[in-house]
Amino acid sequence: MWDRIREKLQILADAAKYDVSCSSSGSNRKNDSNTIGNTGSGICHTYTADGRCVSLLKILLTNYCIYDCLFCVSRRSNDVKRAAFTVDEVVELTMEFYRRNYIEGLFLSSGIFKNPDYTMERLVTIAKRLRTEEKFNGYIHIKTIPGASENLLYEAGKYADRMSINLEMPTDAGLQLFAPEKSHEEVKRDLGIVKDKIVELKSERQLIKSVPKFVPAGQSTQMVIGASAETDKDIMYTADSYYKGFDLKRVYYSGYIPISYDNRLPVIGVQPPLLRENRLYQTDWLMRFYDFDIKEILDDKHPNLDLEIDPKLSWALRNPHLFPVDINTADYKMIMRVPGIGIKSAMKIVAARKYGKLRIDQIKKMGVAYNRARHFIVCADSHFAGLDKQPEIIRKHILDESQSKFRLLHTKQLTLF
Ligand code: SF4
Repeated sequence: MWDRIREKLQILADAAKYDVSCSSSGSNRKNDSNTIGNTGSGICHTYTADGRCVSLLKILLTNYCIYDCLFCVSRRSNDVKRAAFTVDEVVELTMEFYRRNYIEGLFLSSGIFKNPDYTMERLVTIAKRLRTEEKFNGYIHIKTIPGASENLLYEAGKYADRMSINLEMPTDAGLQLFAPEKSHEEVKRDLGIVKDKIVELKSERQLIKSVPKFVPAGQSTQMVIGASAETDKDIMYTADSYYKGFDLKRVYYSGYIPISYDNRLPVIGVQPPLLRENRLYQTDWLMRFYDFDIKEILDDKHPNLDLEIDPKLSWALRNPHLFPVDINTADYKMIMRVPGIGIKSAMKIVAARKYGKLRIDQIKKMGVAYNRARHFIVCADSHFAGLDKQPEIIRKHILDESQSKFRLLHTKQLTLF
């Protein structure tokens, strides 16, 4: 029996690796004497060679699917080996792996077999059994099956820490091209139902402590990048509207890995756009934590991110009129917008300058990447050289500097062998 399960595991874990939305942060499910596991500590993430997260037991219930999304390895027209776990098998596997300390939680997705409700019902049963029968208190992330009934979404939310549903393509046009059986309207409906319930139960919990938690780690979504012709502007404007409209915890950007010979898609062998993926995550970070409006970074004149430099530097070079920033007087929000200064350094600067004017050596100790920041700031003992330089010269200077740093590291590495 275990041989068969091992074979299924190989097929269904491999099919699940294309989904990158498995971050487990943001949930705090405390242990008590009757339960096993604890999401509050020790959840670690590991990554496969191609950068996919495999920290949790990350599997599909099945890779059979009635849909035929062109970009998906589980699409019904794809000639791949199929398998399906039973509910018992997933429960047993999760508990076995958990007891052996292999995993801290479960990331459960599925192809759609028969219909959305039939599939979703099984995902919910697994989560329910883990929580109520096995007293499993680890992390559970359930992928919502698009089109599943409202009741099943409510039920799933009682047992899952996080729920997510994939947008798949950043625009309706892209989705129509590659997955005409799906729609963003359906995704919005499902996200909306869960979001409303989270809000409703959260306010009830403020009055009555015994109201159960509902999707405590919130919702997320994922988009495939580089399969269709969307610009970075299209992608990030979509992300922005979903963050705002559905209070999402995360949007994941998954560089398309060619798996199909269809000539509408990048051919097999083309590398996934990992650098672009990284720039999108940096932009996402600027929106969520650095108070940037997406319009400041991407617009019709700049529909794509600069792959050579990070989006904050790119924004600063396009706005020389906002610099120099005086470290000793500027407000916190402007300081953290300076390339080379992060949130923590900006906080330290604002706290420390109460006691006297800050100098270069002091801000360096606060974690500021001065080589980069010096083009955009003044402090007590610096003179500002940036204004008389063209942004292109600063850009070249920073690029030369980072490339020579890379060359230095590379040379050192080579000398080891
Ligand atoms: S519905 Fe999901 S599993 Fe099925 S083909 Fe589309 S993306 Fe793949």
